[in-house]
Formats: sequence, C-alpha cells, structure tokens
Amino acid sequence: MHTGAFCDIDWDADGKHLGFIGFPYSVDRSPYYQIKMPICRIRNGDGPSLVLMAGVHGDEYEGELTLTKTIRLLEQRDVRGAVTILPATNTPAVMAAARCSPFDSGNLNRAFPGDPAGPPTWRLAHYVEHEIFPRHDTVLDIHSGGTSMDHVVCALVETTHDKARDEQAIALLRAMHLPYAFVTDNGRDSPTSMAAALRAGCIGLSGEFGGGATVTPATMAMTAGAVDNLLLALGITTRRILTDAEMPIETQLLELGGQSFFVYAEQGGWFEPAVEAGDAVKAGDTAGWLYDIETPLAAPQALFFREDGVVLSRRLHTHCQTGDCLMNLGKVLG
Ligand SMILES: [Zn+2]
Repeated sequence: MHTGAFCDIDWDADGKHLGFIGFPYSVDRSPYYQIKMPICRIRNGDGPSLVLMAGVHGDEYEGELTLTKTIRLLEQRDVRGAVTILPATNTPAVMAAARCSPFDSGNLNRAFPGDPAGPPTWRLAHYVEHEIFPRHDTVLDIHSGGTSMDHVVCALVETTHDKARDEQAIALLRAMHLPYAFVTDNGRDSPTSMAAALRAGCIGLSGEFGGGATVTPATMAMTAGAVDNLLLALGITTRRILTDAEMPIETQLLELGGQSFFVYAEQGGWFEPAVEAGDAVKAGDTAGWLYDIETPLAAPQALFFREDGVVLSRRLHTHCQTGDCLMNLGKVLG
C-alpha cells in the first residue's frame, strides 16, 4: 500500500514555484490515482515565513478565490522570506464544492494531527501539520460559514497561554483590520488547524470571511484586505498586492461565550430568524420562531437569546433538526 505523499516543491529554493503534493489513493477509475493538492511556494531569501491556506472546507469560497488570485499576483520580487499558498487544502472537498471530502466524509478541520496511513483527509492533515507548518512562523487559515451559515467577517487566534506570544498573535489579528476579532481557547489537543499550528510552533491565525455558499464584493474585499494587511504586518511585502488601499475598519474585540451564547433547535421545524448576523441583541430578545408546518393552527415556538451580544452567525437553511445551531452570539469586550 502506498501511503507516502510526493511533493514536487523544493522548500529551500528561491523563486516562485507552482506544483502539487500528491497523495496516492487507488480508486476504481484510476488504480494509480493521486489526490493532487495544489501548492505555490514563493521564496526570496531568509526572512519571515507564512502559510496561506483555504479550502480546508470545500464550500468556503472567499479564501479559495482570494488565494488563487494571490498565486497569480504575488511575485518573488515582492517577497522577503517565504509564502506557501494552499488554495484548496482538502482538494477533494473543494472539487466537490462540499464541506467534507467525498472520499471519506472527512472534515479536515477535525482530522489533525492526522494519520499518514489513514483515509485521505487524515493523510492530508498529517502532511500539513508535520511537513508544511513546521517550516513556517505563521499560518493563516481562511474559513467562512460555508453553505449552511452566514457569518460576520471576523479574525480569530487560539490562545497559547504564553503572554508574549499571545500579544504577538493579537497584534497580527488587529493588523488584519476585520470588523470583528476574538481569541479562542480550544486547547492544544484539539483536531483543528489552529491547534495543529500551535503544536507545530507557529502563530496560528484564522477567521470566518462570510458564508452562504457564495461570495460578495464586501466579503471578497475584506478577505483580500486581510491577506494584504497580514503580509505587510509580517514584513513579507512592502506594497499592497491584492488591494489598492486599506479599508477604514475598526476591529471590535469579542469573546466566545459558553453554551448560553448559542441558540439550538431542540425540535425539528422551519426557523424564521428575527435578527441578522452582525445585529446587537440583549438577553430576552427573540432570536426567531420555529414553525411546524404540519400543525398550522399551533403558534410557532419563539426562541430567545440568553445573553447580550453580537450575532456572529446564523443558520441559513430554514429547515432544521434537533441539534442544529441556529444562532451564535459573541460577547463584546470593553
Ligand atoms: Zn470552515
């Protein structure tokens, strides 16, 4: 059984190199098939080093498009140090325009630290955490709400519980100039790319850049701005590559609360929201109404917020089942 991955990029070579990481995966229609994960490496001497990645979930298009554009526009002469760009990290999921991989139903952001002999998604995770991240200082993993969720545009970091390192990460978080930012604490052992970055010794940055299985001029502009701002803040570039000017956005710092900051469906039905992502709400305000179309004479069940906060995300699919998250609040700091 072939388990090894093949990378046709020379990590130490200066220049702009486009290639693939190949993961052998024998299938019916192609016995010697390889999943070809696209990779672009732009290196210009020693200096800071950054991984830009998108497509960890295949239906989150803001990052996939922005990094495809970055590959085309960023040249070796623009760079001090190195940038590695993965525009379609879970390649089978990206090609299927789905959150998870069609090969193994794998959710790459729940597959770290991965398994070099496991199903494809776990092999990709293993390669990213063990072969790519450790060659870099900083990682930006670009997400969004995907097909089923709308999300405010926000940046996030995982706390390292190391004050100096957290301050460095929060400075980069603010430098991206997105409307919202927050610090999370999911722990070093979690199966996410941010915990993988921590374990690999990198500063891990991530964010949600929109959602709803689409992109908009506003979400694309903010994603491009964040990439440009981060490249500049790290000293990798000295001019804007994707944008003409910095957007005048003040970042609001938020904290993720516990379960009381979420609104879940506790019965199936059809949900009508009372508020949108980005709205400020108070404890006791109505989040929305859950209808049962099969019992039209019954009043819909009203659902209420239990905390004050800003609506970070809301479910876009109206039909829901018990256990679906309908809304999530962020707690405003300061
Ligand atoms: Zn995602």
